[in-house]
Amino acid sequence: MPNVRLCFFVFFAVFLLSESAWAKRFAFERIEMGVLIRIIVHAEDAATVEKAANAAFDRIRDLNATMSDFDDDSELMQLCRRSSEEFEKTGTGPWMRVSDDLFSVLESSKRFAELSDGAFDITVGPVVRLWRRARRMGEPPKPERLAQARELVGNDLWELDKKTQSVRLKKKGVQFDLGAIAKGYAVDQAFEVLLVAGLEIVLVDAGGDLRVGAAPPGGWKIAVPESQDEMISLENRASATSGALFRFVEFDGVRYSHIIDPKTGYGLTTPFIVRVSAPTAFEADALASACSVLGPEASRKLLKAFPNAEVRFVDP
Ligand code: AMP
Ligand code: MG
Repeated sequence: MPNVRLCFFVFFAVFLLSESAWAKRFAFERIEMGVLIRIIVHAEDAATVEKAANAAFDRIRDLNATMSDFDDDSELMQLCRRSSEEFEKTGTGPWMRVSDDLFSVLESSKRFAELSDGAFDITVGPVVRLWRRARRMGEPPKPERLAQARELVGNDLWELDKKTQSVRLKKKGVQFDLGAIAKGYAVDQAFEVLLVAGLEIVLVDAGGDLRVGAAPPGGWKIAVPESQDEMISLENRASATSGALFRFVEFDGVRYSHIIDPKTGYGLTTPFIVRVSAPTAFEADALASACSVLGPEASRKLLKAFPNAEVRFVDP
């Protein structure tokens, strides 16, 4: 009788060899949401991979058309405009039904605002606009303009109704800004598209906010922005980096970050780079922004609600 166990091992070894011989690495890049999006897939069939990667990029583009605050025609911008117009006419804000994606991100955003005691707050829109303008004009926002804009910031200025998938803004001029969470959500959605296409060894990276699936031979090695030499290994996990020093404007020697402390209306001046790893990219993205505002001590309370997330503060 042939040695059955030996036959099995030989068959298994050949299977493994042929698996690794078939699987190839495919890499794609596209600019979407104003950043370079990279998709890497290890798989066998080029046609399947290409089709799935295109579908994943298209999903990100559609999400940008829903959530961008740079595009006046996005669902988000139309929503805020419509609310202000109704206030003009009737003195009150209407309930407005929104798409599944927008509702999902708004619902999560409310939760992050509550859990972070307002450090994460998507109503920072009017304040963000003042700081963008300050950068263009080369002079800091006037304190009285900042004070006015801050009147429009607050998690209590809007509400959601799950049954009707609707949102209502309670004050004229409230302006959402999903910049701290939308990219992470888009990464998760693109990742999902690849999984549904049957691909498992995948990476989706949106300018450093990324998510990886199963590891390729040798694992996923990810460069981290705080160190040129260090690489981290990730598997079935997401990572996002935030921090005061990534985008900032400088006035009188002080660097003000693009991340706003909603309590003051000022861009952060703290030096930290904050890197979060979490099961999903939208959690990592939102937590990285929230923890940047909170700092290491105050972040602890928020992180209790996310036991599967890990945060690293680096003072470069
Ligand atoms: P990120 O780079 O992920 O930390 O997101 C920063 C972006 O989120 C900014 O460019 C703003 O559009 C928006 N943002 C700024 N401050 C806050 C905040 N405290 N809470 C929520 N979103 C914010
Ligand atoms: Mg973020």
